[in-house]
Amino acid sequence: MPLLRQTAYWIRFLQFHFSHYTSEFTRYANRPVAQAKMLWVKAKQTYHFYDLFLALKTGKKHDLVHRLGLFLDEHDIIRCAHCLQNSALRLQEKFPILLQRAKSSHFTKLVIRHFHALVYPQGTAYTLAAVRKEYWILAGHAAISSVVTACRKCKWFTMRPFHQPDDSQLPSFQLDTTASPFQNVGMDTCGLLTVNNTKTWVLIIVDLICRAVDLEFLSDMTTEELHSAFCRVSARRRMPTFIISDNAEQFKLLNVIITASINVDFFWKFIPCFFQWQGGVYERQIGMVKQSLFRTFHGTALTPTAVRTALAEIAAMLNERPLTYVSEDGEDRPLTPKRLPANSPYAPG
Ligand SMILES: [Zn+2]
Repeated sequence: MPLLRQTAYWIRFLQFHFSHYTSEFTRYANRPVAQAKMLWVKAKQTYHFYDLFLALKTGKKHDLVHRLGLFLDEHDIIRCAHCLQNSALRLQEKFPILLQRAKSSHFTKLVIRHFHALVYPQGTAYTLAAVRKEYWILAGHAAISSVVTACRKCKWFTMRPFHQPDDSQLPSFQLDTTASPFQNVGMDTCGLLTVNNTKTWVLIIVDLICRAVDLEFLSDMTTEELHSAFCRVSARRRMPTFIISDNAEQFKLLNVIITASINVDFFWKFIPCFFQWQGGVYERQIGMVKQSLFRTFHGTALTPTAVRTALAEIAAMLNERPLTYVSEDGEDRPLTPKRLPANSPYAPG
């Protein structure tokens, strides 16, 4: 224990500098750590069991003396004498040192932690057996159990997995089967792409029902550029009536522009700040777009034309991705955003 090593160091210091200082534990003179341990035990027993100490010295009656068979050894340390006196055990095991319960003594907690570490942090029973080879702690099982329960290493290895919250209900805008393609969409941007030594971005629009994707090239992140890209997608697909996105300032301004310029019902839902997982429905598609872009163009000098072409091809590829299980025999064709039933109201064109 660090406590004992520190104490041993200071005992040696005092012995070296003050020649008149003599230890009462001469038998431990060559074992400074054992000497320090005895000093601490005696100090703690005097503090916690002073009445017991007086009872043992004067021969008065005391409950604990009778119950635990207590006696004072030659160094005035209170020890227990239980029914194993005639065994071949070591003296420390036959006559363990009495210690106060852990909730009243920090020294007892340190002792328990020391022995808990010695048994390669095993549980309460192992630690109790190890402690009893040298000490008898009042209410020992409860004391050791409380220390082992608070042990960080044991907690780390025995903790149960985090309880997953129950599945929440899907929002209505993801379940509107009467909606046409790209009527309810999620919108976000991703970047950065370096084109002609200029930073550029990609606008991603995801259908919230069939997960079809459309991509547009953004030469910068101004609202004007974003509005133009949005108009191109709306002209190709249709004007959305519901949009969900994060709280980017450009999206907020675009919302104001669109709301002021159209006469149809239109609602833009902004997810709460710092709640990125609420946009998971489109963030997942962004991951796929980024993966395709960066794996294809990593380290390549790009031109706007090449990026626009690549974005169109990536969107076509993503709209052909399987949404259902792909069987090994190939008999069942997987459902893709593009191959939804032709009469489906949300089969994208
Ligand atoms: Zn432990």
